[in-house]
Amino acid sequence: MIQITLPDGSIKSFEKNTTPMDVAKSISEGLARNVISASFNGTTVETVTPLTTDGSLVLYTWNNEEGKKAFWHSSAHVLAQAIEELYPGAKLTIGPAIENGFYYDVDFGDKSVSDKDFKAIENKMLDIARGKHDFKMRAISKAEALETYKDNPYKTELIENLEDGTITFCDHSTFTDLCRGGHIPNTGIIKAVKVLSVAGAYWRGDENKPQLTRVYGISFPKQKELTEYLHLLEEAKKRDHRKLGKELELFTFSSKVGQGLPLWLPKGAAIRERLESFLKKAQKKAGYEMVVTPHIGQKELYVTSGHYAKYGEDSFQPIHTPKEGEEFLLKPMNCPHHCEIYNSTQWSYKDLPKRFAEFGTVYRYEQSGELHGLTRVRGFTQDDAHIFCTPEQLDQEFKNVIDLVLYVFGSLGFENFTAQVSVRDLDNPDKYIGSVENWKKAEQAIINAAKDKGLNYVIESGEAAFYGPKLDFMVKDALGRQWQLGTIQVDYNLPERFDLSYKGSDNETHRPVMIHRAPFGSMERFIAILLEHTAGNFPLWLMPDQAIILSISEKYEKYAEKVLNLLENHEIRALVDHRNETIGKKIREAEMKKIPFMIIIGENEEKENKISVRQHGGEDLGAITIEEFAKIVETETNKTLKQF
Ligand SMILES: [Zn+2]
Ligand SMILES: [Zn+2]
Repeated sequence: MIQITLPDGSIKSFEKNTTPMDVAKSISEGLARNVISASFNGTTVETVTPLTTDGSLVLYTWNNEEGKKAFWHSSAHVLAQAIEELYPGAKLTIGPAIENGFYYDVDFGDKSVSDKDFKAIENKMLDIARGKHDFKMRAISKAEALETYKDNPYKTELIENLEDGTITFCDHSTFTDLCRGGHIPNTGIIKAVKVLSVAGAYWRGDENKPQLTRVYGISFPKQKELTEYLHLLEEAKKRDHRKLGKELELFTFSSKVGQGLPLWLPKGAAIRERLESFLKKAQKKAGYEMVVTPHIGQKELYVTSGHYAKYGEDSFQPIHTPKEGEEFLLKPMNCPHHCEIYNSTQWSYKDLPKRFAEFGTVYRYEQSGELHGLTRVRGFTQDDAHIFCTPEQLDQEFKNVIDLVLYVFGSLGFENFTAQVSVRDLDNPDKYIGSVENWKKAEQAIINAAKDKGLNYVIESGEAAFYGPKLDFMVKDALGRQWQLGTIQVDYNLPERFDLSYKGSDNETHRPVMIHRAPFGSMERFIAILLEHTAGNFPLWLMPDQAIILSISEKYEKYAEKVLNLLENHEIRALVDHRNETIGKKIREAEMKKIPFMIIIGENEEKENKISVRQHGGEDLGAITIEEFAKIVETETNKTLKQF
């Protein structure tokens, strides 16, 4: 008999060679129907793997990440079989599960695959799936494995790097693939498949190696789930910040200026400016002081900070002066500059904490293939700040920063978020700098603060940076996608490297602790995420144009100007559409531009000294006075924008 420990802590006895599926059946028939993969003592196993020792077993269904991984990994096998049958001679390489679905990298030889071939591949996959073929693992000798793949240089390369005795194949139907395991019981569970796209990919990601075709796909246990997923994809496409940024005239790129360097158009710049002043106002109340530092710094500065060792070779190379032989780097981080600001004065413990904030633009080299709209750029502005405090003040400072981050999220309509506390790996104490005592204090400070502020948080051990623990916020957007926003990081390293100090109450010299924090992260990335989250319908207080005045005909132009002036008096940002177009067309275009309020004026409105207001999306507020409208705008603004 063997003893199997289940996730709830219960221990059950089973005959030796019992499989995870047998265990599932012993619990309930319902569970057995839904179990699609398992792990035993932390290692992925098949649901049919005979268990021969005591150990802990976790059973996974489609609702677990692990279950999805097995589902999509298995689907990649089915995709490979479909390709092999439809494209004889195509050479298979690797095909892993990914966050959403799976892919397979294939050398199609002189053939090519495009969207018009997707349907045939999908049909073939469904055909195979319906055969309910079991996935069966088998061990194979290195010599036999090499023999099997003697015509496939890619698999041969993979096998050559494996140790004899550890190599396994997976069979299903008439198909075999080199594989480590982790499958669903049989192909029949795959009910819906979609080939999503093809892209070029180099073998092993190396541009000197052959180019392959990466076929992306996704699969589901129910047709309904595929339909929902495709709808979500469609919605994500509509909300793509690159598309919306163009439509709403927020930003652009120029190949002359250079890739990855966004150019902010007036409306986009207005949003940025509003976000900045919003945060500056809150920061002022929270005791921050604004500082300004240059865009470049001497190479030596970043050697001291350690950034040069980390990024130097793989980043923008030094700028040389014509005569003195000086070397400067484009600023990759603001922290070293702020450390030098701290160092410009002698501080006493009574002066601390010092909180230096800057909307600091930094430059980081990203490969052109990695660039993506505003989310991966080469120059961006961080809403950066560094807090220098005593170890005793860390607790309170952390709580204050969390308050600020939550205020930012609330004001911008991010309601769904979780937090992650990243702490040391206690088994590897040598990995970290700074005293154990300080680490304990800092980790406890973060956990206390997270608890105190009622955050929904998890603790991840081993996820801390070598220089300090941190708290990250993960935000879920309107489409359910996760984004990392807002990091608060404790740092023992830079105070050491820059020899920062303060005089304590004991009159001795002490080292301050440093906190890095950026609620938005970067203005570019934040605005991109906000665009996709709101589909361009920003909170009213942030909208570049809050209202547009549409006159029925040119006759009312004078009245339109009068209304515009009155709105400006109420600090409502509005513009007039003077064009000689039909009112229907003007409304449609204002809708496209996502302007929250359309103010329609004609004969009646002018006579009664009123305006007819229509909201974005169609709701009619009828004819009201400017004062009534200003009240509506104020109420709507106050719904999201609260006082800090
Ligand atoms: Zn496999
Ligand atoms: Zn920093």
